[in-house]
Amino acid sequence: MRSTEVDAVSGENEVVELCRDLIRIDTSNPGDDSGPGERVAAEYVAAKLAEVGVESRILESRHKRASVVARIEGTDPGRDALLLHGHLDVVPAEPGDWRVHPFSGEVEDGCVWGRGAVDMKNMDAMILAVMRDRLRSGRRPSRDVVLMFTADEEAGGGLGARWLVENHREHFDGCTEAIGEVGGFSVSLDERRRLYLIETAEKGIAWLKLTATGRAGHGSMINNENAVTELAAAMARIGRYEWPIRMTKTVRTFLDEVSAALGVELDPDDLEATVAKLGPMARLIGATLRNTTNPTMLESGYKVNVVPQTATGHVDGRYLPGYEDEFFKQLDELLGPNVTREFVVHDIALETDFDGPIVQAMTTALLEEDPDGRAVPYCLSGGTDLKSFNALGIRGFGFAPLKLPADLDFSGMFHGIDERIPVESLQFGTRVLDRFLDLA
Ligand SMILES: [Zn+2]
Repeated sequence: MRSTEVDAVSGENEVVELCRDLIRIDTSNPGDDSGPGERVAAEYVAAKLAEVGVESRILESRHKRASVVARIEGTDPGRDALLLHGHLDVVPAEPGDWRVHPFSGEVEDGCVWGRGAVDMKNMDAMILAVMRDRLRSGRRPSRDVVLMFTADEEAGGGLGARWLVENHREHFDGCTEAIGEVGGFSVSLDERRRLYLIETAEKGIAWLKLTATGRAGHGSMINNENAVTELAAAMARIGRYEWPIRMTKTVRTFLDEVSAALGVELDPDDLEATVAKLGPMARLIGATLRNTTNPTMLESGYKVNVVPQTATGHVDGRYLPGYEDEFFKQLDELLGPNVTREFVVHDIALETDFDGPIVQAMTTALLEEDPDGRAVPYCLSGGTDLKSFNALGIRGFGFAPLKLPADLDFSGMFHGIDERIPVESLQFGTRVLDRFLDLA
């Protein structure tokens, strides 16, 4: 492209095409390494960075499981580096279930449609658009910015973020703070006012395999050491248990801000009633008031008249930051003496304060673009690549800014069908991120 043409392209104009291109590259991650991998998307990202003079590296943990890293030097070498990250993989999609093909990247009804439009090729595109625009016009950020486009987030990051932390620590040099998914999006309070939820905490993950071992034998005999009975009883206790409400500082600040914004009194003795008043936010917030345990799988036996020796089941457990010990103590009580547990996945909970210059930078950037907005911290009930980056002492936030229409079920589209993102939201986010880099 000639330089005059390059100059005419702003990040805001470009972000939609970048997002569509990324969606059209199928990076489905079924979790067992049988997918197409992220290599093609990584090469696309590297080429887009090269066009504006950024040298990047593509790092493969396994064949085709590629991440991209690049460093953009800031104007102030005395400052710590900022990590901007997004994952390149997406969860699989079944085309028959969708209104448009999930890998078409079509624009319809003012939205870009496709797998990853929400989680999280939107943010990948915004990061690319902002950096390309800034570098084309010579606007370097003041801090060094490290860009990471990671593989394998949807399967826990073992071949992406975690692998990078364990094998390529040098790329994180000087990084003290990170910005990534799932936060910065708006939730409407009414026609005019919006909350922007910035992720400052994540629940921990305890995916568990439970095993009951009993006495095998004929199904016609008396058997009071029946593994199926033991396991079923433990699963029922765990599934029915009502975990008590525990107020983390993130949820406390969130509820204070929301009740101030809505002008409703917050009753600390009846938080669930307060949360129920939050409408579409209730689903998002409900699970961040307590630990949770959901039985999800059961396996045992092979014939109706044979009592098997063992029975196994799986439980998806999530614990709040600061409540891991309580979680396992209570869980072990529910398991009882005859059922053992082992981890399928065990990952940390995270929590950071909603204060300091970087929070100010996010808040200011949002309010400059949406004066009727209000930035609030929130706790994510799931997990992101931040859990891996935390091992390096990096303080992370979910901040992929999006001003969304009030009637869009945004949180329902993560891993859902008909994933789509309004063009205007992408453009808004690109402007906010650009402002943020001036302030951060
Ligand atoms: Zn994601």
